[in-house]
Amino acid sequence: MKTTLIIGAGVTGLSTAYHLARLGAGRIIVLEQGPIGNGSSSRAAGITTGLLWSETGVRARKIATKWFRHLSGELPGYTYHNEHGCLNLFSPELWPNREKLLPLYDRLDTPYQILSSKQIKARWPQLNPPDEFLGLHDPLGGYSEPADYLPALAARARELGVEIREQVTVRELQREGDRIAGVCTDTEIIPADTVVAASYAWMVPLLATAGLAIPAKTFVHQRFVSSPLPEAVVLPPVNSDPYLGYIRPAAGNRLLLGIETPNLPDVKVPVMDYRMESLKESWDLVAPAVERFGGILPEIGRLKWETAKVGLLSFSMDGEPIIGPMPGVEGLFLGCCFHSGGFSYNPAVGCFLAEYVCQASPSIDLSAFLPSRFSAVDTADYLATSITQSQSFKRRL
Ligand SMILES: Cc1cc2nc3c(=O)[nH]c(=O)nc-3n(C[C@H](O)[C@H](O)[C@H](O)COP(=O)(O)OP(=O)(O)OC[C@H]3O[C@@H](n4cnc5c(N)ncnc54)[C@H](O)[C@@H]3O)c2cc1C
Repeated sequence: MKTTLIIGAGVTGLSTAYHLARLGAGRIIVLEQGPIGNGSSSRAAGITTGLLWSETGVRARKIATKWFRHLSGELPGYTYHNEHGCLNLFSPELWPNREKLLPLYDRLDTPYQILSSKQIKARWPQLNPPDEFLGLHDPLGGYSEPADYLPALAARARELGVEIREQVTVRELQREGDRIAGVCTDTEIIPADTVVAASYAWMVPLLATAGLAIPAKTFVHQRFVSSPLPEAVVLPPVNSDPYLGYIRPAAGNRLLLGIETPNLPDVKVPVMDYRMESLKESWDLVAPAVERFGGILPEIGRLKWETAKVGLLSFSMDGEPIIGPMPGVEGLFLGCCFHSGGFSYNPAVGCFLAEYVCQASPSIDLSAFLPSRFSAVDTADYLATSITQSQSFKRRL
């Protein structure tokens, strides 16, 4: 029986395991150095929209939102909150760039609606955007609570026969010439026919163990959750580039606030033993963000902020995800660098990686996302630099 090892039990690794099991891929083992969701997945805001900037991204997200809706029915305890879609909000200065993408959405038959400030207020009375703002509403978008999604997906994968081994760190990728042979952990060598690396922020040190590299950088990102409101907030998740962040309803009548920090430098993850717990939240970001968001949700100024989660976002050199076979090592596949949208991508990425493993090619053309698009020289140069997130690619969701 063929064995596939998946490194990482975040949303990408778990989703890959789930799809591999559905395709009857043989023995599937997920190796996770911490508990399930140890990396960025448990820290995510979980917002999803299909209205991206590239053809491949839009096609992939269409598949992702279809799967979120399906999983909402299949996974006990998980709900895809698609009740109000997802609202992307633009100031007059930022709108023209987005407007250019509308022909792409039309051509790919991706639904959207342009809403004036007045229409937004009429639909969600708690929102009060400035008169000159426009909303791009995505009816297929929404959000997931990571705390519901991760255990539900892991439980389903286990039901389908996947072995998930927590607290097991992969120390080395094992190669036999130009083929992957398995992995080495602290206690054993595990042979495998195929290895899927879903190690996200840890991808650079993991690949280095086999003499491989991709041009990836990681940046700190954080989000905060309020104390309960007297009544539920009735609104879609709102991505607001003009306000450098986003808000969404959260479990228990709370509000979640995510804050962009474009001027922070990249964080080097040099070793597998790096822990995201070493990142400290910056509570001083909250007051200015609350002030900005007061412009669309006046109520936000009255809230207390209870919890913070801080994690890492991973960006590739051209800002697009890296998904597919690693050149030069047959049987090794990567799924990473999802900018700030890896949660949103995950059900589709898992599906594509499983298709690569089982069928050699995915159901959509992923050439724009292949690891092979970067040269070794560009990769080495990029890894040697230190940049801020704003000098990397501006990619929200
Ligand atoms: C604050 C915050 C808010 C966000 N909000 C959103 C959002 O609203 N929408 C959205 O789409 N995305 C969002 N993101 C991004 C999203 O969280 C990530 O893109 C996504 O979770 C990546 O999933 P992953 O499974 O690839 O990586 P991870 O969840 O990081 O999983 C990688 C796993 O691999 C394990 N691992 C690594 N190396 C090894 C090894 N050598 N051996 C064994 N295990 C290993 C790690 O422990 C980890 O659990 C947000 C991120 C943050 C930090």
